[in-house]
Amino acid sequence: MAYQALYRKWRPRTFDSVIGQEAITDTLKNAIIRGKVSHAFLFAGPRGTGKTSCAKIFAKALNCTNLQDGEPCNKCANCVAADQGSMPDIMEIDAASNNGVDEIREIRDKVKYAPTEGKYKVYIIDEVHMLSMGAFNALLKTLEEPPEHVVFILATTELQKVPATIISRTQRYNFKRISKADLEKRMKYILDQEHIKYEDKAIAVIAQVADGGMRDALSILDQLLSYEKESVNYEDALQITGFADRKNVEQILLKLLSKDAPAALKLAQEELDKGASSKNILDELVDMATKSLMIIKTGDDDKNMFLSEDFIAKIKDVPTSTYYRLITLANKALNDLRYTNQQQIPLEVFLVEATSSEQKQVASAPVANAAPAPAQQQGSTDLSAELAALKNQVVELTQKVQQLSKRPSFAKDQVFQLDTAIPKSVPKAKAKPAEPVKKKPVKNIKKTTAENRKQVYHVLENATRDDLNTIKNVWPDLQSVLAVSERALLDVLEPVAASPDQVVMKCKYTLWFENASSDSDLLEKLTSYIEKFAKHYYGIVLVPDSDWLAVRKEFVESHKAELLAKKKQQIEDKEEADSKEDTEVINKAKDLFGDAVTIKD
Ligand SMILES: [Zn+2]
Repeated sequence: MAYQALYRKWRPRTFDSVIGQEAITDTLKNAIIRGKVSHAFLFAGPRGTGKTSCAKIFAKALNCTNLQDGEPCNKCANCVAADQGSMPDIMEIDAASNNGVDEIREIRDKVKYAPTEGKYKVYIIDEVHMLSMGAFNALLKTLEEPPEHVVFILATTELQKVPATIISRTQRYNFKRISKADLEKRMKYILDQEHIKYEDKAIAVIAQVADGGMRDALSILDQLLSYEKESVNYEDALQITGFADRKNVEQILLKLLSKDAPAALKLAQEELDKGASSKNILDELVDMATKSLMIIKTGDDDKNMFLSEDFIAKIKDVPTSTYYRLITLANKALNDLRYTNQQQIPLEVFLVEATSSEQKQVASAPVANAAPAPAQQQGSTDLSAELAALKNQVVELTQKVQQLSKRPSFAKDQVFQLDTAIPKSVPKAKAKPAEPVKKKPVKNIKKTTAENRKQVYHVLENATRDDLNTIKNVWPDLQSVLAVSERALLDVLEPVAASPDQVVMKCKYTLWFENASSDSDLLEKLTSYIEKFAKHYYGIVLVPDSDWLAVRKEFVESHKAELLAKKKQQIEDKEEADSKEDTEVINKAKDLFGDAVTIKD
């Protein structure tokens, strides 16, 4: 039997099995029991918190012929059809891929027809914030006067991007991040049911990385288990999540507290070398600093915190303000991470900054003749040595930033952010002030190579709609097995054409295309996962987004006659091919690439 991802296998099918959103599920159940159902709902909240699951369950319950106390029975014909995705009265639209006005207009036109099988026509629009302005306006018209039998369920991870006019016409439910305790409980339950052993520590790490998302938590489990493992252990969990061993992070935190920047940098580097990500190290430091604060304030050192006794003994006498500052700085670094491809820099800047504060006051005191800083009393003998080391770090970092500023991927404003993040105590002259960055990002990054283009052509020549659908169908499964750090792949890549042995994937960013094309590990991994789920091998051919349209158009142009012949052959027995030549070509192209095709002359 095909391997089924845990998050799909264990997707909740009743309101009661949705984790951590009791307030919402109870309200929805009550609405169904009382038969008072609004025409439009808005489910807002972070990814993986149960919005889509609740929408599906709600849609099912609305049309269930044998309701069980507000829950769908999951047995009647309507429930079964809904679970299989073949219930004609439940329409799911992913606005992330269908953001056109046309889809919504179509809804507007069809919405007036009564449901065919059930009581309600339910439209689930996922990621509704992705709709274009025109589509929102069309939707608004429908929401203003919805027919009796229609229910809209809009879901979004970014409420702030949904127009107020839409929000005001819906009943809104805010899905919250699922607590770590709930995530852990659910994971343990599922593993018990699957008869898989686990270490508590490993589950705690996964819950931490999942950041309130059940889907992420289960995806990580899937990944761990996909390595033919029969148990979930701590070491594997660290490796797969890119988490640093807590004991080592404890050491980093202790170095920060003792203001030892070089040692903290060295330890962090060791963790990075072992595969931990900057983000995770920072997350762990924040988590640990928060827990330290709790221990200091409450005296509670719960074993579930997984902190060593030695560590707890050492952190108890540190003033709480130090932790607050650390957390603030780490959060700032986490924010900076989102805007740079050079993931190490914000972490390094943080480590330097976090160890520099009190020394800054000392260093600036004689210069500015300010009041003597209280921190001066302790350890002033080796202060100058540390300060020198710090300065070296900063000079190094500044140089890195300057180098980066010359690279196309590094936007100007980010350079400035980093620049201001460097401790001000450093004499500007020595640190070589960063020159104002005026160069525009270089645009003419290597285009699709001739070799690559040949491959794309080869796929297009043999492309079939079935193969493309096969790849598209396994996409959600890939989401569940790729490492958290690799999952961004699926946002960047889009399968656009496939032949029986190869698939063309469009790459959103040209720079990324270049990196990915030379990263054979990543492509191999993706290929093997596709093979696993599709039960068929497909080689991957990448094409940058910017080139795809041109390549495809070129292909269609140069193969016009051939495409036409193929199409003609197909319809030979049916009817006379009397429509215009161009329409035929476009139709054939649509067969190959899907409905989203528009070919402009
Ligand atoms: Zn039912």
